[in-house]
Parts: sequence; C-alpha cells; structure tokens
Amino acid sequence: MPSQERDAFLDRPWKDSTAEPFIRIEGVTKRFGTFTAVEAVSLDIYKGELFSLLGGSGCGKTTLLRMLAGFEEPTAGHIYIDGVDMIDVPAYARPVNMMFQSYALFPHMSVEDNVAYGLKRDGVSKAEISQRVADMLSMVELLELQKRKPHQLSGGQRQRVALARALVKRPKLLLLDEPLAALDKRLREQTQFELMNIQDQLGVTFIVVTHDQEEAMTLSTRIAVMDHGQIIQVGEPSEVYERPQTKDIANFIGTINMFDGEVMSSNDSFLLRCPKISKPLKLPSQAELNIGQQVTLAIRPEKIKMTLEDPHDSLQITLRGEVLEFAYMGNISIYRVKIEGEVVLQITIPNLDRMAERKIEWDDQVFISWHPENSLVLRD
Ligand code: ATP
Repeated sequence: MPSQERDAFLDRPWKDSTAEPFIRIEGVTKRFGTFTAVEAVSLDIYKGELFSLLGGSGCGKTTLLRMLAGFEEPTAGHIYIDGVDMIDVPAYARPVNMMFQSYALFPHMSVEDNVAYGLKRDGVSKAEISQRVADMLSMVELLELQKRKPHQLSGGQRQRVALARALVKRPKLLLLDEPLAALDKRLREQTQFELMNIQDQLGVTFIVVTHDQEEAMTLSTRIAVMDHGQIIQVGEPSEVYERPQTKDIANFIGTINMFDGEVMSSNDSFLLRCPKISKPLKLPSQAELNIGQQVTLAIRPEKIKMTLEDPHDSLQITLRGEVLEFAYMGNISIYRVKIEGEVVLQITIPNLDRMAERKIEWDDQVFISWHPENSLVLRD
C-alpha cells in the first residue's frame, strides 16, 4: 500500500481492510425468552475509537453493551476483545469498565475515595493509588473538590467523578451508558468536548450508548444506528447524515424533507414525478435508477436556498412557495414554507448577517431552490 494511503488510514482504521479490530462482535444474538433484544449483530470496533450505539428506546443498545461488559451472555455469536474470545471470561476479568446511567457514586465517600475505591479493592499500593487518583482528578479538573461528598457537587461534577473512577483503573475499553443524560444542554455540550479530550489523551476505546443523535454526531468517530435489535447502518457521523441508507435513518438523524414519486427520464437525466407537485424534480445524477421505480427524493433543510427573487439558475431545482411560519433560533432561523399542492418544506437559513436589509417573513412569496446533487434518493 502506498505510504500516503497508509497515513490516511492512521486515524480511520475502519477504512483499512488489513487493520485488526480491537473488538469484534460476530453474529451476536440475545433472546430473553421468546423476545429477541439483539439480533445477529456483527461489528468491528478499532483501538482508540469513540464509537456510539444510537437508536430509539428499546432497540437493544444497552443489552449489547451489557454483553460486552459480561453482564449478559449472548444466546448466539461471539465477542472478541483484543483477539480473545470473551465467551468464558467473567465480567471482572475483562479489560472493560462500564459507567452506568446513574453514575452510582458512593454517597458517604469523598470524591477522592470514590475514585480510589476500585484500586484499593485491587490491592494497589497506597503511594500508587494516591498518585493515580491525583492524576485522574487533575485531568477531569476536580482536584480542588476532592474532599467533597457527591451531594456537594453539581450534576456535571458528579459525572466527571464517575468518569475518573471508571478511567483510573486504566481499562482498555470503557462502556458508557447514556453518560450525559442527566446534564442540562449547556453542561452536556461542554462535557461532550471534555469526554473527547480525555479520550484523546488516554487513547482508551470508548463505546457510548445514546438515543441523542446530536450527541452521537458530536462525539463519535463512528456511529452504529440500531433498530429492533439490528444494526441498520454504520458509518462516520458525516456519512450517516449525508448518506443515510433508508428513510427511517434519514428521519432519525436530523430533519429531512421527502418527496415520494416515480422515476421518469428526460434527455439524459432522471426526474421524479411527484403526484403532489406539478413540476417533475431532477434527481441526483449518481443515483442508480430505473424508469417507473417508486423512490423518495430527500433534501436536508440547510441545503435549500430561499430568496425573494427568482434565482434563474437552470442547474437548480426552483419551486415557488409561501412562508407559513418561521422561528428565530439565534444562529439559524427555521422556516416552514408551503409549496404548491399543500406540500410543506422545512428550510434552515443561517443568520450570517445582522444587518440584512430585508428578512423573509410570514406570508412572503418566495423561491426555494436546491442543487439536485445535494439531494438524496432513498428507498424504504
Ligand atoms: P433505552 O434507550 O430505553 O435504554 P435500549 O436500546 O438500551 O433502550 P435495551 O435495554 O437493550 O434497550 O432493551 C432492549 C429490549 O430488550 C427492550 O424491549 C427490553 O424490554 C428488553 N429487555 C432488556 N432486558 C431484558 C430482560 N432482562 N428480560 C426481558 N427483556 C429484556
């Protein structure tokens, strides 16, 4: 392999077919009685990844995490960590630590004792414990609060104690179940970046369970989207967002406008005949299509332009519409625009210019346009 290509793979081993995964999940199924919580999941995760399992409630994320930790046994399939089959390895003997949703700190112990607990139990020497606890508390910026008890801390600080306690044992793999769920939005965003920094410094592999797609997008090297116990797409955040494989994934990850219709052709391009819109819509050129096929054209709200004047750009799709409502969100404004045939689209416009002369408002007649290559063709 040319060295340039190898370098490009250094940070993205999943692109390198010769790279050895750190965790290999092979055909893993988990049944509780007749109910299948996880079904035939296969997944490779590489050293140093911050990998997210994303999906709605009950889709099997936590069950998969618990099987990695050794708290549940797979009904079928194998889990390998660092090349070793975990089938007969009990939870305590795995190179894994799990941080639970509730953090489960000991309420009567100080911050430093909470962090030191696991090391004491393992019989590590006093001098080493105090060094490792101090290093870890300094990393999560809690050194000054080490004598406090959990009830004297904020939610974010408690979360960092739990993280320090999980990391002080130097696991090769840290499993985090909804680690930021108890935090408010601002603290959650701040903690997301702290998590990424800590992960970067220590090189530990993180697997995070979350139902929050924004969190998964911000944190992850890659995301596995789960539904009904199965993995329906795995990819880097930008891949999952820009190239979702199904309508469900596109809807679950962010907002998307969709047009259902039938493929027709004109000259050398494919168009979508949409029963609700009089004008056929140009489809992206790279999509593999057949005439007469039923497909969905999807376009993200931020990829649509909205103007008061006709852009007169033959390369773009242009439709006329009327603004039904809009919401000012600070950095962006979100518009709902009715185009012909009662179809309503959502459009996001960045608020770049404080001095813009004429803002688009309620009841304005507008032109909306997008480049066909910015749209996607989705199937069910
Ligand atoms: P959430 O985001 O709500 O925590 P999840 O994706 O983590 O959901 P799991 O906790 O993995 O979901 O549960 C998956 C399914 O398996 C659910 O329908 C749940 O009710 C079921 N389940 C989990 N544990 C057991 C159990 N011990 N016995 C029976 N069913 C279970």
